[in-house]
Amino acid sequence: MNAFRPSRHGSRRPKVSFEFFPPKTAEMETALWESVRRLEPLVPSFVSVTYGAGGSTRERTHATVKRMVEETALKPAAHLTCVSATCDEVDDVIRSYWEAGVRHIVALRGDPAGGLGTAYEPHPQGYHQTSDLVAGIRRVGDFEVTVSAYPEKHPEAASLDADIEALKKKVDAGATRAITQFFFDNDVYFRYLDKVRARGIDIPILPGIVPVQNFKQTANFARKTGASVPQWLADRFEGLEEDAATRRLVAAAVCAEQVLDLIDRGVSDLHFYTMNKADLVYAICHLVGLKPEKTAAQAVAAE
Ligand code: FAD
Repeated sequence: MNAFRPSRHGSRRPKVSFEFFPPKTAEMETALWESVRRLEPLVPSFVSVTYGAGGSTRERTHATVKRMVEETALKPAAHLTCVSATCDEVDDVIRSYWEAGVRHIVALRGDPAGGLGTAYEPHPQGYHQTSDLVAGIRRVGDFEVTVSAYPEKHPEAASLDADIEALKKKVDAGATRAITQFFFDNDVYFRYLDKVRARGIDIPILPGIVPVQNFKQTANFARKTGASVPQWLADRFEGLEEDAATRRLVAAAVCAEQVLDLIDRGVSDLHFYTMNKADLVYAICHLVGLKPEKTAAQAVAAE
């Protein structure tokens, strides 16, 4: 039996982390904070907040992360990209996170300014590669730095091996953890992990799990990011286009199956792309043995 799978005998539970995106409207803000509050008692290792394409959410990402520092017990990580910005501008953002008490950054290059599929042009005075950004962050402060990893290779990479070399450069520059692009076939992840370890990269590579809230949207996004969508997954959602309730049940079953298999095969840390929706993620966490922890105040009241 696997050590991480919850059992009647009470074995170890996996650790989890959650990704959110900064809200655009007051309504989205309410939804985000409801989700944050629902997932907070599961005591994630960290939560992260994305950075809009081209830095478009700079202020909103900062405000969201800052509020998490000030109002929750969570350890937030701020995503940061270097597209369309000078090194000085990016360094200012890094410093503002340090001043706000943030100690963890998810460092990314970002998509080309012209959109996915166009060539990436670094800003002439900017960080050219993510590894340069990682080194820049480490120069500004003693941050924990997480980077991305692509089990099916980044769409721009010439080969998977070339992409693993890029990951090695990010690690050599100071990255201490990677989160993968989402995938649905766990074998893809484990094959990638073998290759990464064979290249001498020994940082944790957290599997990025996307609960399929909307199959059509997920499939479209997967096409753009180079993640494959197996036919069996499409088959499971086929015919449910007008049936949101059944879709949700199927999504929970599919995600549970993936997560339990990862845990069975030794994975101890899972990263969930929440899309700011807590319910499915909460249910999956419950299934793998993660229950809300009492706050100190609740524990005292219960005595
Ligand atoms: P990189 O590691 O920079 O790789 C991009 C390409 O450059 C690859 O082909 C790689 O092989 C190559 N490369 C990298 N370094 C070198 C090098 N030193 N020499 C030669 N080639 C190199 N985007 C956002 O805009 N905001 C976000 O908040 C965000 N969060 C993300 C979180 C995760 C977990 C993931 C997986 C992606 C996220 N993205 C985000 C998307 C990401 O910005 C895009 O996929 C972008 O196109 C690549 O940036 P990267 O840092 O992921 O990849």
